Amino acid sequence: MKKKKKLKAYTGFNRNTGPGEGAVLIFDYTGKEARRLAFGLVAGHLVNEWIEFAVRRLPNVEWIMRQATSKNPHVIEWPETCSSCGMWGYEQKMVDGERMCEYCQEWAEE
Ligand SMILES: [Zn+2]
Repeated sequence: MKKKKKLKAYTGFNRNTGPGEGAVLIFDYTGKEARRLAFGLVAGHLVNEWIEFAVRRLPNVEWIMRQATSKNPHVIEWPETCSSCGMWGYEQKMVDGERMCEYCQEWAEE
């Protein structure tokens, strides 16, 4: 039996400014394919040149994988972000109706 290929999660961002300035969430089989797939979407705003576009593997954790909207390779341009810092690189939980990442939760608890 042929083994079914599973999507992996990647983040794509501008390597000069870093993921803090905007990053997309990509689901694809390899980093190479993910980079090629997402470049067409981010070219012109997130990055200008192919060389600026970096793709990094993300762990296959539940809070990332549940954002996949298809079983085929695709890009999420606006992943669920923390309502406090606007980032999505950390796991978020709902706190008083607001989506907050682990870092902002720690600050809020003090
Ligand atoms: Zn946050």
